[in-house]
Amino acid sequence: MEKKNLGKRLEEKLPGVKKNILLKDYTTFKIGGRAKYFFIAQTKEDIILAVKTAKELNLPFFILGGGSNLLVSDKGFNGLIIKTENKKVDIKNSKVIVEAGMPLTKLASILANRGLTGLEWSAGIPGTVGGAIRGNAGAFGGSMSDAVKTVTILDYKDLNVKKMNNADCKFRYRDSIFKEKKFFILSAELKFKKEEEDKIKEKIKECLNYRKMRHPKNPSAGSTFKNVPIKIIPKIFFEEIPEAKKAIKENILPSAFLIAKAGLIGKKIGGALVSHEHPNFIVNCNNARAQDIKQLIRFIKKTIKNKFGVILEEEIMYLGF
Ligand SMILES: Cc1cc2nc3c(=O)[nH]c(=O)nc-3n(C[C@H](O)[C@H](O)[C@H](O)COP(=O)(O)OP(=O)(O)OC[C@H]3O[C@@H](n4cnc5c(N)ncnc54)[C@H](O)[C@@H]3O)c2cc1C
Repeated sequence: MEKKNLGKRLEEKLPGVKKNILLKDYTTFKIGGRAKYFFIAQTKEDIILAVKTAKELNLPFFILGGGSNLLVSDKGFNGLIIKTENKKVDIKNSKVIVEAGMPLTKLASILANRGLTGLEWSAGIPGTVGGAIRGNAGAFGGSMSDAVKTVTILDYKDLNVKKMNNADCKFRYRDSIFKEKKFFILSAELKFKKEEEDKIKEKIKECLNYRKMRHPKNPSAGSTFKNVPIKIIPKIFFEEIPEAKKAIKENILPSAFLIAKAGLIGKKIGGALVSHEHPNFIVNCNNARAQDIKQLIRFIKKTIKNKFGVILEEEIMYLGF
């Protein structure tokens, strides 16, 4: 009886909630089955209400930003998707308070128009501020952790809103405390420096051009695997493949190097393909199923482990598996 009324009770408590929404329309992979319930949160209050309601109804929920770091299963998600579209931004001098649903590229452009430098590297990344803070997104030597002063979160456990400073966030390479704790990122205070508008816009243009040239056109979720710290790579690998040393940057070996060296460029399973343009991107080249991508990931990990003794770790997240 309880279960039967769940949809009705959810609609009463969370006006605007939709049913049976196809998630492939909300992921950059263009893959994913249906979400049983789907809610677009346009304000902080919407987010708090959605989380509170899901908890009251004992309904699993998932936070969706730009869906650009995500593989959603073909079965979809049997719970409530809360899609962040809270996008307010408040700029006073070099202090920027921005909500989690703001697209990164849009924020970089707003900052450029205000003569604020520090986020140019993010131009072209199809995610939100919340997703980028959670994964400590970065490129071209910059990362979210450089800009974050404080992060305001909703703690799912007690439904309290709390403020965390940069050190509390425990930022590491593509990692933060938000991957461990059940915190919903609501907004952040970011800090930037003043710079000439033209110089900032030129940097943004360079980043966008680089992405246009180097990144595949087919749908993807960006880099599939994290790059690999050299300290976890067996010494024998560098003895056998001395040219690998040239690919190291800041003690990190790009996963793309390992994938290319293993001869995996162009490897295809179903509609999933290891990109020719960027070996660390898996692309959906022909109506791939989530299972195709998952199998290809498994195959790459197994091959790299067997050939080089290196264990690759996914950068992309999974939902509904
Ligand atoms: C073409 C392309 C290029 C890319 N280039 C880069 C790059 O250069 N550098 C890089 O780092 N990444 C890159 N990415 C990956 C991706 O865009 C980033 O990781 C991005 O920051 C993910 O943000 P999102 O909003 O899309 O998160 P989603 O994919 O929606 O979600 C990812 C995870 O974050 C969680 N999450 C989202 N919002 C919140 C929130 N408000 N609070 C708590 N958790 C939240 C989700 O629950 C999920 O677990 C690229 C992706 C593509 C498709």
